[in-house]
Order: sequence, then structure tokens, then C-alpha cells
Amino acid sequence: MSSPLGPRPRPEILTIAPYIGGESHLAGVNRVLKLSSNEGAFGAPPGAQAAYARLAREIFRYPDGAAEALRRAIGARFGLDPARIVCGNGSDDLIYQLALSYGGPGTELIMTRHGFSMYAIAGAYAGSRVVKVAEHHLTADVDAILAAVSPATRLVCLANPNNPTGSLLGAAEIARLRRGLPADVLLVLDAAYAEYVTRADYEPGVTFVDAGDNVVMTRTFSKIFGLGGLRLGWAYAPPGVIDVMNRVRNPFNTNAAAQEAAIAALNEPGWVEKSRAHNSAWRDRLGAMLTEAGIKIWPSEGNFILADFTTRERADGANAHLRASGILVRPMGGYDLPHCLRITIGTAAECEAVAASLTDFMRHG
Ligand SMILES: *Cc1c(COP(=O)(O)O)cnc(C)c1O
Repeated sequence: MSSPLGPRPRPEILTIAPYIGGESHLAGVNRVLKLSSNEGAFGAPPGAQAAYARLAREIFRYPDGAAEALRRAIGARFGLDPARIVCGNGSDDLIYQLALSYGGPGTELIMTRHGFSMYAIAGAYAGSRVVKVAEHHLTADVDAILAAVSPATRLVCLANPNNPTGSLLGAAEIARLRRGLPADVLLVLDAAYAEYVTRADYEPGVTFVDAGDNVVMTRTFSKIFGLGGLRLGWAYAPPGVIDVMNRVRNPFNTNAAAQEAAIAALNEPGWVEKSRAHNSAWRDRLGAMLTEAGIKIWPSEGNFILADFTTRERADGANAHLRASGILVRPMGGYDLPHCLRITIGTAAECEAVAASLTDFMRHG
């Protein structure tokens, strides 16, 4: 806490609740099953690990601040113009850049009630008023978002699929949202889980970015590409937004090891296909096992499921039971969903262990 005579931050800074990440350790347990941070089920791609090790000799050198080779590799992989890509120290870095560049005192940032918490942190840091809009069945509601737009609105941030709910808006709904927004409002489509989506009406954001000047799509290497520890995200954006981001980002915001490992991860044969197939199969299977145990499961398009225990007490009890089994999942009190737990889809054995523990909890309390 700051003393009354000492340096003081802007007052809105002290309204920010620090981001709480997923736990990694349990006292007294050697091997925890960490299903609390939506990291990919298969660890880091072998090629990425080798690239990271190879780079060890070169870490005295500054990285390429423009991440040229990586942007070319992303462009080639996704069929995008590398000049319209900016890389960041995780996509969180990109969200900060956008919130600080387009928001600020006197402006508003719109997100949804159970939207990804980084938007609220970045918006408050920028000095914007953060407006949380009601959802419908834990899904973003386009009409409610459009109704919340005011002359002060500068940003609308939407994770699609959303974390932690797993819900998704189809392409027609996103198109309707884009059409309804004033031209000077930036729509940030956070597609961190794009590779896991199986719904046919999904569009991560490229066509919406291409359709005008006010949509940005962000992506990450932290989820399906298995590089959360290296911190690497990227944005695909219109030229005007790219220009802004290149002015404000830290000149060396992505490090050399992350750049090399990410290029290797993009080129890992079959990695995305294998991970997606595993995720789809086990998302269904774990969902069915938990439903069988009497737990309500919200439909998810991500690499996690939101398990609904109806009351905070039951969710806390389930979490304590999982912890006693050495399993870490994510409590949802910070997302205004204290009656829920978010469970990452891990390996087959990890999913079986979660199902066994929660089935036991539901039977014996
Ligand atoms: C995990 C996640 C990200 C990724 O953040 P990084 O900073 O790239 O690790 C972004 N958005 C959402 C909604 C997420 O769940």
C-alpha cells in the first residue's frame, strides 16, 4: 500500500485486482495434474524444444525487434500478409497496447460479464471506464453489446471462443456486431482458442479484419502450440492499427528464443491436427463422464470445460476433493462464477483422473 506522502499512482490503478493465474503446486504432492491454465495437453512440440536449445549460444544477441522471420512464417501458415501482423510478448501484451493506444480517461471499453479478465485490467490501466455487458446463457449477446455503445466507446473486446465460459459466436453474429459498431470503435476479436473450434459456422476474424479498418484479431502460441512459458502472441490488423502498434510496442517485445521456437512449432508436422483431434474427443468424453456423474457442463469450443456445481459451496467442495487427489483446476470466483470450476482438457489419463475424482465427490460428497 502507498503511504499518504509517497508517490501515488493514478487512482484507477488501485481499482485493478491483480490477475490470478492457475496454480502449479500443491503442498505435499510431488506430481500434480495441472489443469488450471489451459496449456496444451501434449507439452511443447519437440521441434520447438530443439530450436530453443539451439538458441542458447545466441542469447547474448538482441532479438530481431520486428520479428521478420516469425511474421513471415505466420503469414505463410495462415495465408496472411506479414506486413499486417504484429507480434507481442503474449497476446496480453497486444491487448495492453490496444487498450492504452485507443482508450484512456474519458473513454469506455466494452467487454462481456464473464469475458477474459485481461480486458478489464488493460482497460483500467489505460484509464478507460470498463463496461461489462450482460450475457445470455453465458454467451456474448450482440444486441446487449450494441446497446451499451456510447459516444465514449473506443474498444469492444471479445474472446471468441470465450475463456472461461467456452461459448462462441458464429460468423453471422460477429458480422452483425461489426456492422452495428460505429466506424471509430475498435473491435478486438481474441481468437486464442481458434484451433480447437469444431463448430462449422466459426470464423476466427480474418474476414472481419479484411472487411474494414476497425477490427483486430489476436492469436497466441500459448495454447495449441504449447509455448505459454515463452510468451508469444500475434495480431492481424488493418494498416492503421499496425502502424499504431509498431509505434507503441516495446522495441524488443518478443524474445529471440520465443521467435525461434514459435517458427519451429508452426512447422511441427501434424501437431495442430493431433492436438485438435485429441481435444475434440476428450472434451466430449470428459463432458459425458461429468454429466453422467450429475454435474452440469456448459458447451465449450475451447480446450477446457466449465463445470457448473450450482452453488459456491458445492464447487468449493469439488475443488477441495480434486486437490486432495492432486488435481489443480481453476476456481471461478474472480469471474463472477463461484459455483463453477474450469477444467483444462489434459491427456487421456488426466481426463480419466478428473472424472474419477469428481464422480467420487458427487457420490460421497
Ligand atoms: C490464454 C488466453 C490468451 C493467451 O494469452 P497469452 O498472453 O498469449 O498467453 C488470450 N486470450 C484468452 C481469452 C486466453 O484465454
